[in-house]
Amino acid sequence: MMGYSHSVTAAGAWLALTELGITPHQDTGTLVVTTLACAGAGMFPDADHRKGTIAHSIPPFSNIITALIATLSGGHRKGTHSILGVLAFWALAYFSQTLTHNGIPWVSLALTAFAGGLALRVFKAPGGWLGAIGLGYLAWQTDSLSLVPWAIFCGCVMHIIGDMMTTRGVNILWPITIKPPVGTKIWRKSGYFSLPVLGDAGSARENILTSAVTVYILWFALAYFAVIHTFPSQWLSNLWH
Ligand SMILES: [Zn+2]
Repeated sequence: MMGYSHSVTAAGAWLALTELGITPHQDTGTLVVTTLACAGAGMFPDADHRKGTIAHSIPPFSNIITALIATLSGGHRKGTHSILGVLAFWALAYFSQTLTHNGIPWVSLALTAFAGGLALRVFKAPGGWLGAIGLGYLAWQTDSLSLVPWAIFCGCVMHIIGDMMTTRGVNILWPITIKPPVGTKIWRKSGYFSLPVLGDAGSARENILTSAVTVYILWFALAYFAVIHTFPSQWLSNLWH
């Protein structure tokens, strides 16, 4: 999947969890911060890519960090695209909250701002990293930080699901690789798993899925700000009955 598709599907999943009441109730500021953090984290697993969006985000720091992540995780689509990788991203977000200076969890705020800023960049919001700084401030003002690790978790999980839906698949069990006796489309010779309903990354089917999720997000936003009366889930359940 392409970066944009990862971010859109991550944000869509987070809003769906919100709509279904699976995440706790959030005020508007918190929802903005967590949704954008989730959308940005939707690209985190590709931080193992030395030429990807994250590598080019804040040079030269981002180049150094992505090179380090690529080395630690064994290369592209390996460690960061596994259960272990998701847990590592979650743990980074969770434990960074405990690192405070003068009572302010700077690392956690910076991570939240960075994730949200990545999303703003991929959604082509104007203002560059200024938006990220604004989000960091909003995160501090709204108690969003306790939910951010879960938003990041959701984004990373959605990334792996997205890549799994493409032909190459992912090895979620990394660093263990179990190769099948006979390679199939679902359990590939490489030991990677995939359910390639989208075909290759960047396919027309991927674009259709991303467009559908974009419509869902816009619909959610219109309902949330009371421009229209029915949330997507309400409409669906009305359809059912
Ligand atoms: Zn990926």
